[in-house]
Amino acid sequence: MSFHLAPKADLERGITTLGGRRLVFHCHHYNVFLQRTIEDALQERAPALLVAAGMEASRSMLQGLENDANSGSAADALRRAADIFAAQGFGRMDVSDLGVGGGLATLEHSHYAVGWVSRWGKRPTPGCFFVAGFLAGAVAVACRLAPERVTSRETECVAAGGERCSFRVEVW
Ligand SMILES: [Zn+2]
Repeated sequence: MSFHLAPKADLERGITTLGGRRLVFHCHHYNVFLQRTIEDALQERAPALLVAAGMEASRSMLQGLENDANSGSAADALRRAADIFAAQGFGRMDVSDLGVGGGLATLEHSHYAVGWVSRWGKRPTPGCFFVAGFLAGAVAVACRLAPERVTSRETECVAAGGERCSFRVEVW
């Protein structure tokens, strides 16, 4: 991990930040239980909220990193986003198809998919909402797009029996 990817620990204040945003560390048990609680409560309204939350959290963090040290190109910014995502333990994503027009991305060993299956088994629909939001935020920052122009959804998910987790990012 390069120093650009490493969170900053403030031991005196007991906080850790990345891109100027505070980090909270949770295991997959906490994350998938929280997600299930939101899905149980909001039903069909949950996916949009979970994706939007993931997008906003990632967008502000990645924009902070770009402000500190500009990646120089959209492709480099997307690679840095993927490296940060992996370094935080969420899985290794392929973002090579993404760009200003959106595109497709895949994820190996999704924290959310593997965590969900290990806790509750398969689910009927894709479950990596945070990942979809992260990808939308990454494209918005890398391509300097207004966030409302970028949408993202998971089209195949390991937690729903898929071969891999796949995502379609669209720019409007
Ligand atoms: Zn998934």
